[in-house]
Amino acid sequence: MPNSISRRTLIELGLAGASAALAGTALAEPAPFPEPQLPPLPDSEKIGFAVVGLGKLSQGQIIPGLKGARGAKLAALVSGHPDKARRIAAEQGLPADAIYTYDDYDRIAHDPRIQVVYIVLPNSMHAEYTIRALKAGKHVLCEKPMATSIADCEAMIAAAKAADRKLMIAYRCHYEPLNLEVMRRMRSGALGKPRLVVTNMGRQSDLSDPSDAWRLDQKMSGGGALADMGIYGVNASRYILAEEPVEVRAWAQTDRSDPRFRTTEDVIAWQFRFPSGAIANGSTSFSYQGTMAYQVFCEHGKMTAEPGAFYGGNHLTIDGAKGDREPKIHEIDQFAREMDWMADVVRGKAPLVSPGEEGLQDMRLMHAILESVAKGGATVRTDWGYRRAYDPAVMVDVPRPV
Ligand code: NAD
Repeated sequence: MPNSISRRTLIELGLAGASAALAGTALAEPAPFPEPQLPPLPDSEKIGFAVVGLGKLSQGQIIPGLKGARGAKLAALVSGHPDKARRIAAEQGLPADAIYTYDDYDRIAHDPRIQVVYIVLPNSMHAEYTIRALKAGKHVLCEKPMATSIADCEAMIAAAKAADRKLMIAYRCHYEPLNLEVMRRMRSGALGKPRLVVTNMGRQSDLSDPSDAWRLDQKMSGGGALADMGIYGVNASRYILAEEPVEVRAWAQTDRSDPRFRTTEDVIAWQFRFPSGAIANGSTSFSYQGTMAYQVFCEHGKMTAEPGAFYGGNHLTIDGAKGDREPKIHEIDQFAREMDWMADVVRGKAPLVSPGEEGLQDMRLMHAILESVAKGGATVRTDWGYRRAYDPAVMVDVPRPV
């Protein structure tokens, strides 16, 4: 099996074979992208999505993203606010019978317009609404973090298996051009061996904003800034290095007199040690100036992604590579790309690159970080043997920098 292998080739091989083929591709050459841009499918062939929870992300990114998707479309809304749901349905041209409440949610089982349910609720509600959707026979795309506990993540994975439905976690950076470019350059080995990854993901929070109030509540968020923003760094250090941490140490700095931090930690800094010898330093906070940035230090070069995980305008600088110090990253709608990927998963045309197991791995690592914090920075072992099934760098096609 050649080391350089494109996603299309893998899919032509059949997905079962693809998994085996990937086993030896850790240092694969970047795939020969870009692939041709495909036209939108006819409406009748698009996969119908029900969006559950009509908050900031749904209204700002997901519903607009569905409009621009190639093979996915908005089919239903689930909300506890009838006025808001009616307004959005009217704007999107949805009929009144495509609006569900949390009480009559289970009726989606009888609605053939819905194939995928997208869970965009506060984190503590992800497990219940995912499991109910799976029991209703629907596939689920669930926002990050997957849930608020390891047990809930495991129950969600078990429910998907029992229902024989797909469960994907909405890790949008797996479908985003800058992050895929970083992954591909790492896999190519062009900058030499990775030595250190530094991720800083956080922002200021505002208790008077209802959307932040639940994020600052431990029960609803499962971990404040770490669960909301730090998770991007936990996930990024793993997909940049294409390996899993074996140990973590972490410290927190939280001002308990600040009303925002009654139940959650504020600043957390952690260190992951990876089997290759690489180290990842991560930080998160709900009281520092907004940042979604990372740096990768390799033997012969350095990559800086700042911002590295915004919805748009991500910027990559490469030191030590010839010719392309600032590759121009293509602007795409990463939400549309992610939902199109889910639609292709449902069609059986694409593998689950970010399955429930990915969400569970991050949940376990975040719990290990919090365990180390509780033990004053003690080392916590994390070598429980998880291996990612598919490498986004090999599988996901987006336009490459020009
Ligand atoms: P939000 O607070 O703006 O929206 C949450 C929605 O849930 C609201 O419509 C609210 O009315 C509804 N809701 C139902 N029951 C609720 C309850 N008991 N308490 C509070 N709200 C309740 O949040 P958001 O920013 O849209 O985030 C939703 C999810 O999306 C979260 O899991 C978050 O982590 C995730 N998210 C992901 C990204 C990303 O880039 N992938 C970005 C933002 C948010």
